[in-house]
Amino acid sequence: MNMSLRQRLTILGSTGSIGVSTLDVVARHSDRFEVFALSAATRVDDLLAQCARFRPRYAVMSSDAHAAQLADLLRRNDLPTQVLRGPDALEAIAAHDEVDAVMAAIVGAAGLSPCLAAARAGKRLLLANKEALVVGGELFMSAVQQGGATLLPIDSEHSAIFQSLPEDASTWARRIDKILLTASGGPFRTRDPSTMHSVTPKEACAHPNWVMGRKISVDSATMMNKALEVIEARFLFGVRPEQIEVVIHPQSVIHSMVQFTDASVIAQLGTPDMRVPISCGLAWPERLESGAARLDFRTMASLTFEVPDKRRFPGLELAWQAMRAAPGTTAVLNAANEVAVERFLDERLRFDHIHAVNLETLQAVLPSKPQSLADLLDLDARARRAAHSAADRLAT
Ligand code: NAD
Ligand code: MG
Repeated sequence: MNMSLRQRLTILGSTGSIGVSTLDVVARHSDRFEVFALSAATRVDDLLAQCARFRPRYAVMSSDAHAAQLADLLRRNDLPTQVLRGPDALEAIAAHDEVDAVMAAIVGAAGLSPCLAAARAGKRLLLANKEALVVGGELFMSAVQQGGATLLPIDSEHSAIFQSLPEDASTWARRIDKILLTASGGPFRTRDPSTMHSVTPKEACAHPNWVMGRKISVDSATMMNKALEVIEARFLFGVRPEQIEVVIHPQSVIHSMVQFTDASVIAQLGTPDMRVPISCGLAWPERLESGAARLDFRTMASLTFEVPDKRRFPGLELAWQAMRAAPGTTAVLNAANEVAVERFLDERLRFDHIHAVNLETLQAVLPSKPQSLADLLDLDARARRAAHSAADRLAT
């Protein structure tokens, strides 16, 4: 149990875009937060620099080799941080007795097991890692409930929705009419759809409004990011699939909206800076200076809205298809998409074939209701194998 007045934080994926922004906010409020543990997959030097600055008790790396390298560097720099390795260590720092809050900022299904560990241990769980919830679904939400954890969304849209809803979650079901999820439309909102086959990783990663990790940047370009967010919203807010609508809003000023049963709409606005939802999650229900620029309504030209074009963004519909299919189907969709995006970034798959891989995998892998983390990991592995074979076929 943490008896100090400062919140003790574990940051999973601390060297990534969200991890770095989280540490930026934490550094502004050293009277409120202390860093208990950090983690990274491969970036030894970045994690070393973070250890030197934030003095965590633990640092976790994915492989033995990286862990040994970090331990050696820490020793040479006289830093006391202990180095641990692998998925068990991630679970341990997420569920540790002395931790108050866990920022889940790993990308992909790899973040699921530490998220579940934090949920079961009743932590304040700040969720950026949307794939974990898309894979975990009902199982994830019941771990949160049974563990008595507090789940706070960090994805900007879900933070916006959360901020637009009343604090008492037991009133949501009868008050929400619709969730209006805004989307920027990404870098290809106006690109000729017949040229999508020639999109390069560099073009796909050049997002007009946000600077993010490579995987989510590609997801924004296909709008699979929005598909994952639709599924994320369904689980977080307990709404039916047909209560979620996606609206393209290219300026990314409105981060999402809730329409209530009386037709009133409440929206959350701000500059596109992830330090806002991160601060909101860290401080909730209080507010903290985030370091983000303020909106200036005097110079804001206009806010515009569009209906997503199904031909340009065929992947968006897969969210509803997966939500309406057997439980576990959202995990299949996520695994297929992770494989397809990775292969696209490695230049082993065409951009427009990402959707083809996702569609084929959904048709090939039919889940039976996952009952445990082991079932989910098994389903995830099956879907990855099917996605690789679909991608192999498309590549030849
Ligand atoms: P990123 O690629 O910049 O960082 C990912 C982090 O996870 C890194 O620290 C990396 O070392 C670690 N990591 C990657 N694979 C791992 C593995 N297999 N095991 C352990 N650690 C691993 O990604 P990001 O943009 O910071 O996104 C992180 C998560 O937050 C994603 O789920 C993304 O969808 C979500 N998110 C990001 C943004 C954003 O603005 N970047 C916005 C909303 C949601
Ligand atoms: Mg988002």
